[in-house]
Amino acid sequence: MINFNVPPYVDKAMEYIQECVRNQKICGDGAYTKKCNEWIEEKTKTAKCLLTTSCTHATELAALLCGIGPGEEVIMPSYTFVSTANAFVLRGAVPVFVDIRPDTMNMDEKLIEAAITEKTRAIVPVHYAGVACEMDTIMALASQYHLSVIEDAAQGIMSAYKGKALGAIGDFGCFSFHETKNYSMGEGGALLIQNPKDVEAAEIIREKGTNRSMYYRGQIDKYTWINFGSSYLPSDTNAAYLYAQLEIAEEINNARLSLWQRYYENLSPLAEAGKIDLPVIPEGCVHNAHMFYIKAADLEERTALIAHLKEKEILSVFHYIPLHTAPAGLKFGRFHGEDRYTTRESERLARLPMYYGLAMEQVDYICDVVKGFYA
Ligand SMILES: *Cc1c(COP(=O)(O)O)cnc(C)c1O
Repeated sequence: MINFNVPPYVDKAMEYIQECVRNQKICGDGAYTKKCNEWIEEKTKTAKCLLTTSCTHATELAALLCGIGPGEEVIMPSYTFVSTANAFVLRGAVPVFVDIRPDTMNMDEKLIEAAITEKTRAIVPVHYAGVACEMDTIMALASQYHLSVIEDAAQGIMSAYKGKALGAIGDFGCFSFHETKNYSMGEGGALLIQNPKDVEAAEIIREKGTNRSMYYRGQIDKYTWINFGSSYLPSDTNAAYLYAQLEIAEEINNARLSLWQRYYENLSPLAEAGKIDLPVIPEGCVHNAHMFYIKAADLEERTALIAHLKEKEILSVFHYIPLHTAPAGLKFGRFHGEDRYTTRESERLARLPMYYGLAMEQVDYICDVVKGFYA
């Protein structure tokens, strides 16, 4: 059976985790958490990175930092994971969904302005499959209407838009290190903060509303309750597991890109024959091969394709059920404008196996099976 995803295995991870255990230093904000934060800051050229317990929590932290409150509106795509919306729904805000572009599956930047009202506070671009949203347009709108931009870059580490790292373009960026992502710590994520003025507030909220981070740096001699907050810091053992992968981040990225390229070349004849659609990488975007997907004609064909792959021992998956059609989406959010592509394109998309360690021969086999299905 070819699995859909296998988390990366890196030898050094064992050594680093053992070191945490041996030194009896496994709690949050230890040496490996700092190494990961610094690595990400350096790589993305962001003012500050704070490792978190998940991307979900990084987004919640960003929502708290933006001070978004009841009845306010946040513009986002409906084609995304639930956490993108939940972070704001938890603050009593209303997710306002706009349609996606069929080429990248990203929020259509041309539809955002019409969705802005007096209540709009933020835009949340989701960089689907690690391919950037049209950030120039989004940042210009945000500046014109005084809105915050929180990038859901859960899938976007190592990707770039016009030379800028994804997650480091908006006011805040959120990475995921869930085991289905390119780099993993089991459960984990990171908040990227562009403006140094937001750093102290972020540290306080992440540390249960206390100024413990300043205390640890020796800036104050006792710590106390400063603001509302929660606990968003991961154990250092998880950071140690992640750091082993960050050290070979380029190698992992290149391996994934080679697999992606192999899929693309193998399946191009099917696309040229009009049988399937392949992912589109717009000019100026550098992607990270987070996923390889193909688009079937419709839901029925996709269902048959996934079943056919399964018969040949290949696990392929689809996602997402558009949020505006889900029970919670109907209750908490609204769709602005027409759903031309969100539902239709989401029903066509199938994700093929993609992970560090997948063999080229396996990709060739998967492509042969896909071609067999269409023959
Ligand atoms: C994975 C993912 C998340 C959630 O990440 P967690 O780390 O599991 O909380 C959020 N948004 C998108 C687009 C994702 O792909």
